[in-house]
Amino acid sequence: MAPVADVAIIGGGPAGGITALALARRGLAVVLLDRARFPREKLCGDFVHPLGVDALRRLDLLAEIAPHGQSLAGMLIVSPQGREVFARFPGGPGLSVSRAVLDDVILRAAARAGADVRAPLAAQHIARQRRWQIRTEAGMVEARFLVGADGLRSRVAGAVGRRRPPRADWFAVGMYIRGLPRHPGFGEMHLAAGSYCGVSSFPDGRANVTMVLPRAWLRPGLARRRSDPLPLATFLAHFPRLHPRLGAASARGPLRATGPLFAHQGPVAGDGVLLVGDAAATTDPLTGLGVSFAVTGGLAAADAIAQAFARRDLSAPALAVYARWHRDRLGGLRAILHLASWLPRTRLIEPLARAWQRDPALAARFLGVLADAAPAREVLNPHYIARVLRSCISSR
Ligand SMILES: Cc1cc2nc3c(=O)[nH]c(=O)nc-3n(C[C@H](O)[C@H](O)[C@H](O)COP(=O)(O)OP(=O)(O)OC[C@H]3O[C@@H](n4cnc5c(N)ncnc54)[C@H](O)[C@@H]3O)c2cc1C
Repeated sequence: MAPVADVAIIGGGPAGGITALALARRGLAVVLLDRARFPREKLCGDFVHPLGVDALRRLDLLAEIAPHGQSLAGMLIVSPQGREVFARFPGGPGLSVSRAVLDDVILRAAARAGADVRAPLAAQHIARQRRWQIRTEAGMVEARFLVGADGLRSRVAGAVGRRRPPRADWFAVGMYIRGLPRHPGFGEMHLAAGSYCGVSSFPDGRANVTMVLPRAWLRPGLARRRSDPLPLATFLAHFPRLHPRLGAASARGPLRATGPLFAHQGPVAGDGVLLVGDAAATTDPLTGLGVSFAVTGGLAAADAIAQAFARRDLSAPALAVYARWHRDRLGGLRAILHLASWLPRTRLIEPLARAWQRDPALAARFLGVLADAAPAREVLNPHYIARVLRSCISSR
């Protein structure tokens, strides 16, 4: 019979990979399953905010990842009418790096630390007797503790009593292209009413263009993808500073699509089980925070699990520290997320962009909050709002 692992992790994205790495470095017996063959691409904007970069540095992973990516001083935010705001990250730089590189480096580090990484291998069925039992094509995997790092459509989520909310009407499309004129050192976030599009550029000349859009935009864009010179061109017509730059660009990979996007609701930990990364909570891709949350969440999860093993208590109350971490991280962000997705649909966005153009420190502060480097009260306060209003009035 195969030995019983201390911890089985389902999912080898950044959340599962970091959890496996941190637990293996603490000497726990970890088995990680992912149905994908790595390295693999994943539909993602490929931005890692300074918070995530810092965590990767502390884990000694950055030196291996950074040469494949592009350091980011900040983000270019483009308003629906095409107003350009260069906002710098407060503190250290961010990074653009493809998920093919990032996730693979993390998984290889986890394996070097002693984790038993099995990929491609899907978890087909999960049950609990005395131990967790995960059925796979290659036999049963047994473990004392289970981590659900299996992303947006988590199977493990049901095991801690999570519910899927009603179907959301948000989808995402994206592809790698070559030949797009770049803004060196800046990621790009183009806003439209009801949609947005991120652009990450890489040292090898490729750019990753990823867009989140309502269902109503999906069908016409997909219908035109074969006749357009670039399969993404129809989708990008909504972005006045992006579409005209497509001129000489050519596809460097397939058009990918996913959706609907949604977020589970409910607890993130139960007896002998915990969720991490997107399985625990999705953040709006607009923030570009998902990977950073997956990395820092993986570290928080590993701390909580290691403590629970040390105390020989794997119950839900023993994992409360992790549930608190989650609440604290996401709690402050919620208000700013609502604001960030509401503003581009209103007329306020253009005067706001004008104010940010005039006073880049205001834009940097907003970006710092959105990137979770500063608390929401940094912008949700009368002083900040008064400065924005003053800047709006003086720039009329
Ligand atoms: C359009 C879009 C753009 C985004 N852009 C950004 C961005 O620029 N920056 C950012 O930080 N975040 C971004 N995000 C969010 C980010 O992609 C996620 O937050 C991040 O991938 C979460 O990592 P994870 O490890 O939790 O899950 P994932 O990366 O989704 O990994 C889950 C893994 O689980 C595996 N799996 C699932 N089911 C099983 C099973 N039954 N058996 C075995 N394996 C299984 C999958 O193969 C997968 O590898 C974006 C999201 C979207 C949708």
